[in-house]
Amino acid sequence: MKLDADVDVDKEFDSLKTALRGWLSSEELGLVEKAFVFARQRHGDQKRASGAPYMIHPVRAALILVEYRLDVETYAACLLHDVLEDTDTTVKELQESFGEKVAALVEGVTKLRGLNYLSREENNLENVRKILLAMAADLRVVFIKLADRLHNMRTLQYLDDDKQERIARETMEIYVPLAHRLGIYELKWELEDLAFRYLDPEEYRRLASLVAAKRAEREAFVKQTIEHVEQMLRERGISAQVSGRPKNLFSIHRKMIQQSKSFDEIYDLTAIRILVSTIPECYLVLGYVHEGFTVVPGRVKDYIALPKPNGYQSLHTTVIGSNGEPLEIQIRTKHMHEVDEMGVAAHWRYKEGKAADLVDSERFSWLRKMVDWQKDVRSSGEFVERVKVDVFSDEVLVFTPKGDVINLPAGSTPVDFAYHIHTDIGNGLVGAKVNDRIVPIDTPLITGDRVQIITSRHSGGPKADWLKFVKAASTKGHIRAYLRKKELERSAPERPGPEESLHAVVPRPATTGRRAPIDTKFRIIVRGDSTVPVVLASCCSPVFPDEILGYVTRGRGVTIHRADCANVPSLAMEPERLVEAHWEMVPHKIRERTIIIEALNVPGVLYQVSEEFAMRDVNIKYMKNASHTGMFRKKTDAVRTQIRIVAEFLDDATFHQLLDALKNLTSVISVKQQ
Ligand code: MN
Repeated sequence: MKLDADVDVDKEFDSLKTALRGWLSSEELGLVEKAFVFARQRHGDQKRASGAPYMIHPVRAALILVEYRLDVETYAACLLHDVLEDTDTTVKELQESFGEKVAALVEGVTKLRGLNYLSREENNLENVRKILLAMAADLRVVFIKLADRLHNMRTLQYLDDDKQERIARETMEIYVPLAHRLGIYELKWELEDLAFRYLDPEEYRRLASLVAAKRAEREAFVKQTIEHVEQMLRERGISAQVSGRPKNLFSIHRKMIQQSKSFDEIYDLTAIRILVSTIPECYLVLGYVHEGFTVVPGRVKDYIALPKPNGYQSLHTTVIGSNGEPLEIQIRTKHMHEVDEMGVAAHWRYKEGKAADLVDSERFSWLRKMVDWQKDVRSSGEFVERVKVDVFSDEVLVFTPKGDVINLPAGSTPVDFAYHIHTDIGNGLVGAKVNDRIVPIDTPLITGDRVQIITSRHSGGPKADWLKFVKAASTKGHIRAYLRKKELERSAPERPGPEESLHAVVPRPATTGRRAPIDTKFRIIVRGDSTVPVVLASCCSPVFPDEILGYVTRGRGVTIHRADCANVPSLAMEPERLVEAHWEMVPHKIRERTIIIEALNVPGVLYQVSEEFAMRDVNIKYMKNASHTGMFRKKTDAVRTQIRIVAEFLDDATFHQLLDALKNLTSVISVKQQ
């Protein structure tokens, strides 16, 4: 890297102007030039720690922002970003020379100066508050701040060790998550690797040399795979850009730690990316990739039909490469790619939106919620106390039905939520609603979800199975405590049961004339056992959620009565035959089903098909399409394609609706269930 001390500020500014000329008018460029002259004059002979003229810093920061094609005000403000703090310039002067907006941006960046990492619990959260407010006021402030930080990180070697460590930590704790949240991944990765280098220099050097050692071999393999994919797509008349991108060092490091793996066990050091023009082409290419490679099952992710919460769109699949190792392939349109690389900045390009519009957009609904919410709390102390915003941690923030905010570890489920509210709610849980829809209780929650827990006094308590999916350590503790207690009760000696005799009052088991059909989503648990055969008493025909009890008959299992049934007092004359019984919600089971669709091989058919799944929130696990290419194919086959989809269904109704909808698509010839 070129040393800062050797730079020529005028030359650097020229290259900034050349780049900006691409989309700014000459009048706008005039404002940028004016900001440069003004800032250079104000900073005078100030120097960077490197010995370079101070002005190189704002110019290089503005050069970082060139990639994001922002507006004239952002570049002018970026060149001026340190004049309020480091010179005697006033806000009023900036307003007079550059207008209210530029002055407000510079002021916003200056206010963010106070951000620094002290302790994770206290000050960091106050920082969060500051950043949220600045972002809500104008997201461009945060862009300038990130560029400022990136240039400072690139020149960190000129500072002393203590400062290096403090600034690197701040970067990792505050700026990396911020860039991630804004979806500016290239900038995030560079910040992350630079911070990593100063925070753990030994590990950084070790990984860097390992990666370098494997590089030649890996590059050859990636090149070969790219050529294979390119040729395959060329033969099928699809124009695409295929490239390989190495993962950043820190993400390799994180993976090794999180999955307790050694470097040799990390395969996906590189992902292959295929960029095409249209969404239908994405699905076509996915089909071709599946035709041409061995696919690793269960790794197909359709983020086009179901984008990630931050708006990310792409198709992902993992195949076995020619060297026998798994290789991730990402397929997306060029537009999606730009949105991915540039994060929020892409919105400026495509929608010419303002910062305020961005905050209103779906992509930033989390930010809007945070900002709205923080308005309601009285003091910053309270805010700091109650919110550990997920922008800065691996946590999700969800809402109770009353609108209270609950903070849980990422990956938490409704069960974690229930135990977080109260142990009794967790123990009484029979079901959950997220955003007013019943969901499986192991559904991972995401920030912004509104969660409602359905409880019953007769829930039967938590199940050992739940330990497999709950996330919070405290939830596991509560569940284990409950199970231990239950185990102790069970092992206590039980009174032997009496001789069985048929009680006169017990009616014959009901087989017809039930008051209402039993809700199939619930089952009856007798003394903690769901396998006991039960019949519903016809005298009172219990239905969910009636309070119930069981009466042990001879040879016909247990008859279930309503607790308030007129016959219960006489049954109770033999109390030893009465047993505890309650309803339990049968957890939704996810069922995988395979659907074979014969369709016309026209552009868009895969998109239409996949849209039907997305509309019904049905997750596609695997998708493959193959045009008929056999040697003896019939003429008509050329225009046909067979799409094989494995998808996950929560209920039969959705499955049948989906089959009908698919059959109604104009390009679909037939739909079969396998
Ligand atoms: Mn600066």
